[in-house]
Amino acid sequence: MSIGYNHVRARIHVRAIADNFLEMNRRGGNCYGVVKSDAYGHGLAVVAEALAGAGAKTLAVGTVEEAASLANTTFTGRVVALLGAQLPEDYPLAVAHDVICFCGRREQLRRLNEAAVLARRKARVSLKFDTGMRRLGFLPEEASEVLELVQSLPNLEAIMVSSHLATADEPEQEAHVHEQGARFKGVVDVLRAGGLEIEANLCNSAALLAFPEYHFDGQRPGISLYGGNPFYGTSREELGCCLRPTMEVTSRIYQVHDLKAGEGINYGLTYRAERDMRVAIVGVGYADNYSRNLSSKGWMVVGDKRVPVVGRVCMQMTAVDVTDVADARAGDTVWLLGGNSPAAISACELAEWWGTISYEVYCLMGMNPREYL
Ligand code: PLP
Repeated sequence: MSIGYNHVRARIHVRAIADNFLEMNRRGGNCYGVVKSDAYGHGLAVVAEALAGAGAKTLAVGTVEEAASLANTTFTGRVVALLGAQLPEDYPLAVAHDVICFCGRREQLRRLNEAAVLARRKARVSLKFDTGMRRLGFLPEEASEVLELVQSLPNLEAIMVSSHLATADEPEQEAHVHEQGARFKGVVDVLRAGGLEIEANLCNSAALLAFPEYHFDGQRPGISLYGGNPFYGTSREELGCCLRPTMEVTSRIYQVHDLKAGEGINYGLTYRAERDMRVAIVGVGYADNYSRNLSSKGWMVVGDKRVPVVGRVCMQMTAVDVTDVADARAGDTVWLLGGNSPAAISACELAEWWGTISYEVYCLMGMNPREYL
């Protein structure tokens, strides 16, 4: 555990991550654990080793640099870089560490081949197609040309074909999933007819759970491994309820005091007490990635009760109304996220008050000092 400059701790349930992986693998088969962005704030090395223990054969990170860092762990399986090689220094690094790069531009294929020729090695790639996300990837109508190009580059081995779904977590936009699924199938057929033996993967967590017809040969679940329900607040919410929470975030109460009716609190005095009340000053603020958007909107858990944030979130402190928690006192632990209480706050709830999604909650809260349980 590293030393922080406040008392916030992100406590990671490693066993729960492994269990979520096993659950997703049971539903989808051949899951590549998505561990990009420091495993969604849970810590890349620890999560990689936990997933390896749960049987993961393939992990997917973002950058080539992140992929290379896995060499310092006990994970010995395949490593995919979802962002692929983007900068000149990425190409030799990818070849040296045998990283499977997503490639969605001709230039990437050529440069990776050059780096592999120089190193006298083969570079394995995943051909990335843009079937409707409009972000990265070859267009489906380019499939034959891409096939020709990849077959002409002697030190490249195309072992995967991939695409990413833009709306799999939004039931009201299901038609777009089917359009993307059909385009992807078309691409896979062209590549296979041209002689490529290729592992096709399309599904993120939401698609893995909701669209078994698009499972193809491999799945790329991310948020579900960390207990995030990709369907939270939608008609498909029950599909994601099988997952265990993996992160709890705590801090401590620094002080408890009275606030008289009519008194304001914290910068701008934006909250004024409607009655005599007691407030606790908690050691967390926007410098700890507890968003200022939670000012007078968020909730925390003290004892077994949810208590509302009152006034503005400051840099290192936030006030909550503890009038109804009779025994709240300085030094007590406060849960910002998760925990065992029946009142525990889920990542999706926190995200809603914050005005974001659970992915951002995990990535940002996970930047605090972590403890592994
Ligand atoms: N595949 C790709 C290419 C991604 O960028 C991501 C994450 O955004 C994932 C898979 C995992 O998605 P999710 O976390 O929604 O399961």
